[in-house]
Formats: sequence, C-alpha cells, structure tokens
Amino acid sequence: MKNIVIFGAPGSGKGTQSDKMIEKYGLNHISTGDVLRGEIKNGTELGKTAASYIEKGQLIPDDLMVSILASVYDSFGRDSKGVIFDGFPRTIPQAEALKKMLDERGDKVAAMIELDVPEDELMKRLILRGQQSGRADDNEETIKKRLVVYHSQTMPLIEWYKQEGVHYHIDGLGELDRIFADICQVIDNI
Ligand code: AMP
Repeated sequence: MKNIVIFGAPGSGKGTQSDKMIEKYGLNHISTGDVLRGEIKNGTELGKTAASYIEKGQLIPDDLMVSILASVYDSFGRDSKGVIFDGFPRTIPQAEALKKMLDERGDKVAAMIELDVPEDELMKRLILRGQQSGRADDNEETIKKRLVVYHSQTMPLIEWYKQEGVHYHIDGLGELDRIFADICQVIDNI
C-alpha cells in the first residue's frame, strides 16, 4: 500500500495534484477539509462544530479530527492501493496519531510530499479561488489567519517527517504538469 501525505499551505495545489494522483494510480483520497465541508452542508452536529472553527481560520481539535480520519481510512478496506492524505495531518499530535493508527493496521506513510509555494502566490491563488468557488474561508482576512496557523502549527511537520525519513520537497510553483511529473517520480520510487 502506498500511503501518501500530500502536504503544503492552503492554496499550494494539494487538491489539484491529488486529483491527478487518484486518476493515475487509483489511490483512495481523504481530504479532511472536504469531509468537514460535507458535514456543514448536511447540517450535522459535527458540521456545526467544524463551521465555528473554519470561519475563524482555526483548526478543528485534534481528537475530533483523528476519529474522523480513522473511520474514513477503514471505509476504504484492505484492498486499497493506498490512500492520499490531503489536509491531514496539520499538527504534530495529528501526525503521531496517524502513525499510531497506521501502525495498528500494519500500514505506514510511504511519502510525505511537500508542495512548496511562496506566500504572495498563495494569497493570489486563494483570493481567486474564493471568487470562483465561493468558499467562505477564502476571503483575505481568513486567508491571512490560515497562513499564520499553517506557519505556527503545520510547518513543524516538515522536520517531523524528515526525522521519519519520508519527506520529499517539490517546487509547487510553475506548470501543473511539471509539478505532477515531479510527484510521479517520488511515487514511482517508493
Ligand atoms: P482545507 O480544505 O484543507 O484547507 O481545510 C479547510 C479548514 O478545515 C481548515 O482551515 C481547518 O479549519 C479545517 N481542517 C481541515 N483539515 C483539518 C485538520 N487536519 N485539522 C484541523 N482542522 C482541519
């Protein structure tokens, strides 16, 4: 099983590149952001809790995220070719919980692929996405908060995965197909 963490700031292209990876490799995909937006749309209790954090650009508490993640992971079954984790983990405790959850199932993260994009480009992309998709958290004020959260809580994961020996850096600025080719090179060699 090739379990892959696709990692990067909001707007770094995780969702776009995940779609290409799903198509080429037949991997399953968990986007925790999509799961939460689905819960909000359906008006569930979880959705109500999630909305209050998302609107402020804050992270949902780790214990809640971890239990959601385990149930989605198990829903893919043992025949899965591997899972792309998109938007998870976002904190060190989430990375530790993911490692434990996978260990318990005899699985592991084979690669953490970091899409590196400069901040001014991220701002541009997210503002444009907000205009097109209407995502409530893609407005300038919330984007700034999400980038602060990314720097303080999520970026330390780069060092954490380097220690695990599975970190791969990719230049996330430029042609989509060139970025995808770089990703494929990592996947084909793990
Ligand atoms: P995303 O679509 O991945 O950018 O996520 C949108 C929002 O959902 C984030 O700004 C967080 O509020 C929340 N969220 C998504 N994934 C996580 C996670 N792994 N941990 C905590 N909050 C999350």
